[in-house]
Amino acid sequence: MKTEAQREQDLGSMRLTELTDFLVKEGYPKFRASQVYHWLHVQQVSSAEEMTNLPKDLKAFLAPRIKSVRMVNRQISRIDGTQKFLFAMDDDCLIESVFMKYKFGNSVCVSSQVGCRMGCRFCASTLDGLERNLTPSEILGQIYAIHRITGEKISHVVVMGTGEPMDNYDNVVTFLHLLTDENGMNLSQRNVTVSTCGIVPRIYDLAKEKFQINLAISLHAVTDEKRRSIMPIANTYSIEEILKACETYFAATHRQLTFEYSLIAGVNDGAEDADRLARIAGRVNALVNLIPVNPVTERGYEAPNRTFVERFKQKLEKEGIHVSIRRVLGRDIDGACGQLRHREMNAGQKQGN
Ligand code: SAH
Repeated sequence: MKTEAQREQDLGSMRLTELTDFLVKEGYPKFRASQVYHWLHVQQVSSAEEMTNLPKDLKAFLAPRIKSVRMVNRQISRIDGTQKFLFAMDDDCLIESVFMKYKFGNSVCVSSQVGCRMGCRFCASTLDGLERNLTPSEILGQIYAIHRITGEKISHVVVMGTGEPMDNYDNVVTFLHLLTDENGMNLSQRNVTVSTCGIVPRIYDLAKEKFQINLAISLHAVTDEKRRSIMPIANTYSIEEILKACETYFAATHRQLTFEYSLIAGVNDGAEDADRLARIAGRVNALVNLIPVNPVTERGYEAPNRTFVERFKQKLEKEGIHVSIRRVLGRDIDGACGQLRHREMNAGQKQGN
């Protein structure tokens, strides 16, 4: 049976064995597949033209089967070196990615879908709905393009950009295999984090893949009722079901879990919320990552002030929970995830494009 990548003939989405089968069937010698794979995933070139040790006819065959990820906008923070990229796919869909510098290394935040259909109330990525899934090569292409453009080494990858990775499960899993393949970019699985709003069956599936990647759950509320008011996915899966899936994920991988918790003033930042959050996180020994909500003008949510956030953190710490507050990066270049794309698209519409 042909895989999706072979049907579409998207070479950058094929694992080495698939690429080998594909090229051999087309009449090329087996060793060409290793060369092509090396050009795509180690050299990370963006076109067949750059694959200098290949014969002309093979390059001509490859050219239309390599997807491009084209940069259309780049913003560089003068404060901390964060860079936000807007990329266009071959069909002109727009996606966002972010490059961030940390003490432990450089991290890239990739998008997994064009838009999102999860509908979280505080998130700009979902404002225009879901357009389509990204292919493995389009997710990888964001990292390769950023590496090419910045010339910086990339040691960490987080799947926390636009889209719900577990809603594009097969492509994301293939992407994770390619990203961490020792014959490819060979990024350590321990340096990769996938963030999900909590699509429970897919968390069980991911546990079975036996990856060593980190799982982050976007929790954001500690009762089902409150969670339902800000995250529609909570109508389908309860917090209890998420916790059970987390226990299974931990048992299978022994990777520490993270709960992301966007603090929204007056919504989920009370003393009771902190108490319950401590109990929930304690149960699965999860780290809590507090994110003062990035105001999205379309939604009207605001973050509590810094001292309030600190106090919330201290309450959790008193209960023995490890807590981090997400550093605000690139404050001078743009706001929340999804806003760059949302703005660009609306500007386009206003100009009648
Ligand atoms: N769909 C995935 C990953 C994308 S968003 C998920 O839900 O986890 C990455 C993280 O940023 C999620 O925790 C998301 O809830 C959070 N987020 C989105 N918009 C935000 C905003 N305006 N302020 C703070 N956090 C936000």
